[in-house]
Amino acid sequence: MVELRGIHKAFGSVEVLKGVDLTVARGEVLVIIGPSGGGKSTLLRCVNLLEPVSQGQVLLESEDLTRPGVDLNRVRRRIGMVFQQFNLFPHLSALDNLTLAPRKLLGTPRAEAETRARALLARVGLADKAGNYPRQLSGGQQQRVAIARALMMDPHVMLFDEVTSALDPELVSEVLDVMRDLARSGMTMLCVTHEMGFARELGDRLVFIDGGVIAEQGRPADVLDHPTHERTRQFLHKVL
Ligand code: ATP
Ligand code: MG
Repeated sequence: MVELRGIHKAFGSVEVLKGVDLTVARGEVLVIIGPSGGGKSTLLRCVNLLEPVSQGQVLLESEDLTRPGVDLNRVRRRIGMVFQQFNLFPHLSALDNLTLAPRKLLGTPRAEAETRARALLARVGLADKAGNYPRQLSGGQQQRVAIARALMMDPHVMLFDEVTSALDPELVSEVLDVMRDLARSGMTMLCVTHEMGFARELGDRLVFIDGGVIAEQGRPADVLDHPTHERTRQFLHKVL
């Protein structure tokens, strides 16, 4: 589904990713953990080429996204991304946040886009908030709108970068519930998260990134309970 081959990424003279190989199968939930500055966000951003890679290949459904001439706008429609900061358009209602991209990029008629948007808002538990502006929503509600907005384009893969990190603790579970629902529906997901409970419950595989490389990976319970590398052990000791 997603395949990274020998990914290197440098910002100027600083090499942030130093040769990452990673294959994510269709329907797989991959959880990415690791210390701050280790390259987790950069890695996610390389998957949809928000960051051009310095070296290596990114394949999505066997299509090489890194070859010259690829239409990145077309490619990115297959990849949904949600960030720590919800990045909703503040001047648009929840409904309009959802319908904007399909209407502008795909030319979807307004009525059709709104029908789909209302269904997705209902799916994330916000059927009654379609008319609310972001400032009229809690952080957890805003994040659920952001997830629904990403789903509007019918992505084949979803990337989540610490989507619960900016939330008050009591709002985390409502967002994790939506992610659980997505995972169970068979969505292919790459999730950078500190939620080890989520990793354990829903992750098919856990990857520990440190210093720009995959230092350790395996089944979440195995890595969390029996890390084999000293760096993983130190990191888990701090976060668990
Ligand atoms: P965190 O857990 O804090 O989010 P992370 O693992 O997501 O960390 P990245 O954001 O991928 O780490 O950053 C990895 C390294 O790359 C850091 O040293 C960061 O300063 C550097 N970096 C990231 N983006 C840029 C950029 N646009 N320009 C220069 N350096 C960058
Ligand atoms: Mg990050």
